[in-house]
Amino acid sequence: MTARSRCAKIPPGVSGQGVVSLSSSLCQNVRGGTQLFAALLALVLLLGGVLWFNLAFVAASLLAAPYAGRVFCGWLCPLGAFLERLLPPVSRQRRFQRRPVLRYSLLVVFLVAFGYLFLRPVAGLPSSLLLMGTMFVMGTLTAWLWSPRAWCGHLCPWGTLADVLSSRARWRLAIAGDCRHCGACVRACPVGSLLAAAVKDRRRSALGLVGPGCVRCLRCQAVCPSGAIDFVRVVRAGGERVARTA
Ligand code: SF4
Ligand code: SF4
Repeated sequence: MTARSRCAKIPPGVSGQGVVSLSSSLCQNVRGGTQLFAALLALVLLLGGVLWFNLAFVAASLLAAPYAGRVFCGWLCPLGAFLERLLPPVSRQRRFQRRPVLRYSLLVVFLVAFGYLFLRPVAGLPSSLLLMGTMFVMGTLTAWLWSPRAWCGHLCPWGTLADVLSSRARWRLAIAGDCRHCGACVRACPVGSLLAAAVKDRRRSALGLVGPGCVRCLRCQAVCPSGAIDFVRVVRAGGERVARTA
């Protein structure tokens, strides 16, 4: 079974019972549906003045992260859906240079600002509304200047927290199979800058683990002509964490 014909292979060592194997196109259609549903739900709640939904979404993404990585970001986040679906035509599609210091500084600034605005609202506006607006503007600017979801993978404060929580996850996405170094996955990734390093690692014969920032959209897996991209199991061996395909 190739990567084109299914969404995600049943992980090695896991019983196939209850695990759904879907075609790549069906997988992307389902993802489009979940993104649309979450975006409409957010819009209805926002217009209805139910602003705490923002915190509920953040909590859901952080709870899922240690087990499923940033699956919430790729399948449900309304801002991520907006950036990925509507902004590619205006995006300059440039590579974002990953800067951990900038990323973690932004996280600290957001947490402090959120706490301050919660205690002292500006002009009577709820803190969550101000932060949502700020993230919308910053995400749109980042998508325009770099790649559609550069904000999600490299700057979003909630994404940074989710990456920290998912760093010890047992299942990781990797270029585990025979890679032709065609670059299709690098071009398809909406985050940008993520897969180039993994392809390079694979060229050096190492298992090309996809780094932090991956939102689990599985676009790379859908376009890979050799079915090389898959989930691998990260285990402890000889005191070190190593990735295994089986
Ligand atoms: S590495 Fe693959 S799954 Fe992760 S964000 Fe990029 S295209 Fe999506
Ligand atoms: S699309 Fe597949 S074969 Fe092409 S560079 Fe990526 S992992 Fe390698």
